[in-house]
Amino acid sequence: MKQINKIYINGEFVTPNGTETFDLINPTNNEKTGEVVLGNEVDTRMAIAAAKKAFTAFSKTTKEERISLLQKLHKAVSKREDELVSVMVNEYGGTLQFCRMSVQNAISAFTTTITTLESYDFEKTVGHSKIRFESLGVVGIITPWNASNSFICNKLATAIAAGCTAVIKPSEMSAAQTQLLTECFHEAGLPAGIFNIVNGLGNVVGAEITQHPDIAKISFTGSTLTGKAIAKGAVDTMKRVTLELGGKSPNIILEDADLEKAIPMAVFGAYMNNGQACIAPTRLLVPQNRLNEVNELAKKAAEQVKVGNPNEADTLVGPMVSTKQFERVQSYIRLGQEEGATLLAGGEGKPEGLESGNFVKATIFTNVRNDMRIAQEEIFGPVLSIIPYNNEEEAVAIANDTTYGLAAYISSSDKEHAERIAAQIDAGRICINGFSHDPYAPFGGFKQSGIGREYGVFGLEAYLEPKTILA
Ligand code: NAD
Repeated sequence: MKQINKIYINGEFVTPNGTETFDLINPTNNEKTGEVVLGNEVDTRMAIAAAKKAFTAFSKTTKEERISLLQKLHKAVSKREDELVSVMVNEYGGTLQFCRMSVQNAISAFTTTITTLESYDFEKTVGHSKIRFESLGVVGIITPWNASNSFICNKLATAIAAGCTAVIKPSEMSAAQTQLLTECFHEAGLPAGIFNIVNGLGNVVGAEITQHPDIAKISFTGSTLTGKAIAKGAVDTMKRVTLELGGKSPNIILEDADLEKAIPMAVFGAYMNNGQACIAPTRLLVPQNRLNEVNELAKKAAEQVKVGNPNEADTLVGPMVSTKQFERVQSYIRLGQEEGATLLAGGEGKPEGLESGNFVKATIFTNVRNDMRIAQEEIFGPVLSIIPYNNEEEAVAIANDTTYGLAAYISSSDKEHAERIAAQIDAGRICINGFSHDPYAPFGGFKQSGIGREYGVFGLEAYLEPKTILA
């Protein structure tokens, strides 16, 4: 049984003041694997004090010094790549393929940040003024459970590049992943206080970070509901916020798309990260006159999806992270049927032979109307909604008829055609004919999918305060 009973403050693993514990459960079989002792407000305040103290010297470091620290972190995290993957699969239930990719993203966050930093100029001339981009201060980093290490690494790398120090609050459900990552960070041997990590609950540690006057900025990834609570709390001390929130991303299949290719890709894409992905294309918009063909192809694709043990290399969908998440997804599958959508594949209950874990059948609804709750609300499980449209104008209107605006996807045999549609979609990232990623391009949401952007220069400047000097 794993006991995670330390948090990380001022360069040391220390026993938290908090004594409450949280059970760690393997989502593949629901067996208890360990416990984490949760930090409390006192621990959070100690971590903030350590980060504040370290900021004075750290904010004055040169670009070269920061690059050297990022290189050390990169080396230390790379060394334990295989262990990081294995802990993530077992704690979180992500598939081997997904967890490998996610850990590689975590590792490459350091190198891509170094590249951004190398060419970034912290002083610029605008008009007849000199602009200095100064480190913001202590940053609170609050992350969810669905790709814990890569969020932590990306946010911490950016904070360090900007000369900010950090207090990190990961999801309590990612404690084993955090423990291993913290060991890597510790081995990198950074000066004390640059980063501090406090395990704990959102309404305790997260709330303290949100209200504390010595936190200058919060970089949050998580649900829109929590993001709103953080934004409201942060305003009292005028904290800067970067909020990466939920999504209900449309995937528009244009008339000229190759359905044989686009539909299986759309189905597998909707199930990325077991369907627990903020950018998952969960609304599949297809021409009404091709609906029968689409249904047939989609059903066939869903039947090919292996739901099962995430440790098996060919598994595409592993278990939901918790029984709570499993129940949430089940309730939406019931709701879809009550709302009158047609169940095309999957449905309620666990797949045969997988009764002990939080497994959900690869599910597709068709004949979905965009005003149904299954088309409007983030389900965060392997559930795809197929929504027919009559013409392109209607497709664009449906795509934009959502409170979210994180990502969108377009399939077409004509790139310019797809780009004309992309120009009309309200979303922070639009992928044409696939699911590509660019770690230098801004990432973030329109509307209620968030505030601000991460990655590259846009991400870096969100940790900096411009100061204009007129002489
Ligand atoms: P969540 O909002 O429940 O929790 C995220 C983090 O916030 C956790 O560490 C949690 O403990 C903390 N928290 C909870 N209440 C808090 C409070 N009152 N004050 C401060 N912190 C608090 O999200 P989750 O269930 O862990 O993750 C899933 C959600 O994250 C989904 O909605 C998903 O779309 C979103 N997400 C967004 C992105 C993105 O980049 N836009 C990426 C991944 C996940």
